[in-house]
Amino acid sequence: MIYADNAATTSLDPEVLEVMTSYLLEFYGNASQPYSFSRASRKVLREARETIADCIGASPEEIYFTSGGTESDNWAIRGAKRPGKGIITSAIEHHAVLNPCALYGNEVVYLQPDSSGIVSSESLIREISSEIGLISVMLANNEIGTIEPIAQLSRLAHDYGAIFHTDAVQAVGHIPIDVGALGVDLLSASAHKFNGPKGVGFLYIRKGTEIESFMKGGSQESELRAGTENVASIAAMAIALRNNCNDMSAIADRLHHLEELLMKELYKAGLDFVRNGAENHLPGNISLSFKSVSGEMILHRLDLKGICVSTGAACDSVNTKVSHVIEAIGVPPAYAEGTIRISLGRYNTEEEVLQIASALAGILKPRAK
Ligand code: PLP
Repeated sequence: MIYADNAATTSLDPEVLEVMTSYLLEFYGNASQPYSFSRASRKVLREARETIADCIGASPEEIYFTSGGTESDNWAIRGAKRPGKGIITSAIEHHAVLNPCALYGNEVVYLQPDSSGIVSSESLIREISSEIGLISVMLANNEIGTIEPIAQLSRLAHDYGAIFHTDAVQAVGHIPIDVGALGVDLLSASAHKFNGPKGVGFLYIRKGTEIESFMKGGSQESELRAGTENVASIAAMAIALRNNCNDMSAIADRLHHLEELLMKELYKAGLDFVRNGAENHLPGNISLSFKSVSGEMILHRLDLKGICVSTGAACDSVNTKVSHVIEAIGVPPAYAEGTIRISLGRYNTEEEVLQIASALAGILKPRAK
């Protein structure tokens, strides 16, 4: 099996599994209990908060553990106290942002990206006013990998008194992140996108940002997010993030090299396709639209050869219509339906990339120009 769908989820870092097992089997105490057996759980929560904060330039008390990206996005959008009623987001957000935004009906404005998926500050200037209370634009797009100019957008938001949230689920652990330089008030992340376990993530909440608790119950997470902490997964998330951050530039260099190799092979095969996304994109994220063919057909044919890719957002994989992202960037109709996303990760090899290219050439060659 060749796994090339790392934007959907990643495999667990083996060191992470070891840590998880020890917290599940040996140090399983409830972190809220006062006895000494629970001290290990409290300690690991403290250390995980410190590690995560260190990886994104935050303070430990600004990190709040959640069940993953979807919860973090929902909490930020539905929980943050907006100084104005209006919300601005982009047309290419993940549904974990689009659907909570949709709860606010016509109070929401959707910015359109350019053809490479960039949501520009010019597009924000056209819509922003003092009526706007919250702006949410993703740091990197999950389908096409485009990295957004968040520092410029957040500066504008603050000039108008709005708060700024970024969905950084695809970016955390893959590109350098400094919340201070980005100027964001809220940032969402999810462990399973950076070789951690599924069902755990965090929300960065800048000190002084007013936000309502989203999960009501006990007094965990400074009374802002109730529920017994998922200690083993939180410990695992911190180690996975630390490992990815330590090796980040080496992994990114390798992934860019693998991308180039794949592209070279596909051009050599003479296939008719366009590559989507911007020059500044997530390492390893390759969105391709092939002419006059269905992306779903390509996905299933690759699957028969043991290769996993995606046709777009993983949660949309049952949906055969062109994704909202591909539509928003205006991929020509003859190509749009033939879109697949190959997302390479830290464990992919040159040999695998050559096999993917040769499989695609085999499937699509009869249709080549
Ligand atoms: N935001 C983005 C950009 C994503 O890619 C995803 C997952 O695909 C999510 C949010 C949701 O994260 P989770 O799967 O942790 O709920």
